[in-house]
Amino acid sequence: MNPAAMTILLFLALAMFAGTIADRYWILRSGEPDKRLDHPGRRLKNLLIIGFGQKRLLQEKAAGWMHAAIFAGFLVAAIRTVTLIGRGFTADFHLPLLGGPLGLIYIFLKDTFAVIVLLAVLFAIYRRVVVRPSRLHLSGEALLILTWIGSLMATDLLGDAAMFRLEPDASERGAAWMSTLLSGAFAGTSEQTARTWFNTMYWAHVSLVLAFLNVLPFGKHFHVLTALPAVYLARLTPTAALEKMEFEGRETFGVGKLEDFSWRRFLDMYTCTECGRCNDMCPTHVTGKPLSPREIIVNERDQAYAMSDHLVKVGKLKAQGRDQEAAALIAAQERPPLIGSVNEEDAIWACTTCGWCVSSCPVMIDHIPNIIDQRRHLTMMEAKVPSALQNALKGLENNSNPWNASSAAREDWIGDLEVPRMRDKGSAEYLLFVGCAGSFDSRNSEVLKAVCTLFNKAGVDYAVLGKEEGCCGDPTRRVGNEYLFQMQAPANITTFQKYQVKKVVTACPHCFNAIANEYPEFGLQDVEVVHHSEILLELVEDGKLQLKPGAAAKVTYHDSCYLGRHNGIYDAPREVLAKVQGLEQVEMPRNRREGFCCGAGGGRMFMEEDLGTRINHNRIAEAAETGAEEVCTACPFCLTMLSDAIKETDRSDQLRARDIAEVLLENLA
Ligand code: SF4
Ligand code: SF4
Repeated sequence: MNPAAMTILLFLALAMFAGTIADRYWILRSGEPDKRLDHPGRRLKNLLIIGFGQKRLLQEKAAGWMHAAIFAGFLVAAIRTVTLIGRGFTADFHLPLLGGPLGLIYIFLKDTFAVIVLLAVLFAIYRRVVVRPSRLHLSGEALLILTWIGSLMATDLLGDAAMFRLEPDASERGAAWMSTLLSGAFAGTSEQTARTWFNTMYWAHVSLVLAFLNVLPFGKHFHVLTALPAVYLARLTPTAALEKMEFEGRETFGVGKLEDFSWRRFLDMYTCTECGRCNDMCPTHVTGKPLSPREIIVNERDQAYAMSDHLVKVGKLKAQGRDQEAAALIAAQERPPLIGSVNEEDAIWACTTCGWCVSSCPVMIDHIPNIIDQRRHLTMMEAKVPSALQNALKGLENNSNPWNASSAAREDWIGDLEVPRMRDKGSAEYLLFVGCAGSFDSRNSEVLKAVCTLFNKAGVDYAVLGKEEGCCGDPTRRVGNEYLFQMQAPANITTFQKYQVKKVVTACPHCFNAIANEYPEFGLQDVEVVHHSEILLELVEDGKLQLKPGAAAKVTYHDSCYLGRHNGIYDAPREVLAKVQGLEQVEMPRNRREGFCCGAGGGRMFMEEDLGTRINHNRIAEAAETGAEEVCTACPFCLTMLSDAIKETDRSDQLRARDIAEVLLENLA
């Protein structure tokens, strides 16, 4: 077409783009190191399934397919754009293999996808302007980008259409079926008019592409470039397993400034599409608290961009190993505080770590570590924790339980019940890890008694640690006291090793998560961890627990976030209930992966909930609407929250909350 013009255009566009990307790179480098290149096979699988396969987006029908169509169209159009740029230098340029029949197949696909993308763009504009889903902001940027994408497709189709008027025998005619159809519009035009159209569409397409590339890094559509790397570099450990903090050689703990984050958090900021899926079922957002997982990421990104010159300098210093100079620069930089200004302190404490956001984000943004890192700063650097939490932390420190009950009373719940202790037995097939709720909360002690009675009847070889058990560390770690957690976990592990424990069973999903997913990093190896729902199901299926026909009753099962969403155990508790003849199980609308939190995770069990409406009230209203007489749980925190909600909302005549073990015990033959 015009090699000189194309050279100048390409040079300018690519030079500008390279400058912007270099800045974005140095901002990433202003963060702390984070290893994200291990397990290439698993990462590639994520990339194929979640990145290219758009798995998480396709969970949502219309919007998911719309996005997938635009994404696929982009991939196909990228090949076309390279070809068109090549034709700026050589008129008949083709990419390797695309000059012959394969090229015609590609051209057919290209036209098909261009049409699909145009339809998807129209649908997206309609959805934003007319339907207006509550989770989406109607932003000018989104409309501009959608129009831009539509224009890219339209200029390509119209350019080919004009070309077919000039070259009626072009080999691509027919394969480019949409352009062939459109070429009819040029039938009566002069050659000069068709040529003007062709030239205009060609240069408009190339200019739009290159301008698009330069606009992307400045807004939420940067995700077009960063989403696939973000998916590849996502954390591979279980979603509720927090990362181990190294204390040696560090003067600051947690995240009090952007530069304390790992570089991955900056990639999260670049990649957030502001789609709002994370907000949809965030219990704190839904109940009117100041935490919105989307805003956490967006607010941090806004500060990062506002401080980009500073972060670029810090990134360059850190990359050169000049950490002291970087630290001095960071200390001297004035900025609104990350906690208290960028993110409200109440927002940081509001998170229940339920995992909805993490499980729903299409680009695998990891909100929980982001929030917990800020709690670590508040707890360990500033000793600034909500007042209600202070007693729990004192209890965890002095008595290894958040109720701050004497650790000597840890096995008082057993009373006269026959419960073997490890210290007497020496070893057992299963260690029953009771947990603090089972040990010190009288309602939950009833559940543990039911579990032990069932185990006794079924002849399970088990034992408890009694006074030798300490808190699993779940609340300690989630409220940011990593230092204390790193004492609690090894203490329990040492006791496990003393009794050569090979299998642990627990009725608490929080203990389950800590022992199964977090203890291995502290030395617990080759230990199988099961939840009581799994072992109870096995005992019923093996005929070791015989059931009688139960009284006809309608029950609904509430998924614990730490059992379901974080650890994938959805079926076992439901199947336990299904074994009881006469029980009719009904599902709440928000169930399984979409189960709504009870409000107690993330240490929230030990904090006041005085902002917005109560999360447990929201959930119990949903349970009551099913018409069930009983809401069943498999988690001590959920049991407490739902029981409280029943009382507080005057539903005691209508509904009761019980653990699945209690239901099973009541229906034993
Ligand atoms: S964090 Fe993820 S789910 Fe939330 S708005 Fe951003 S991209 Fe969407
Ligand atoms: S973990 Fe749950 S409570 Fe916390 S931000 Fe995510 S969705 Fe909200």
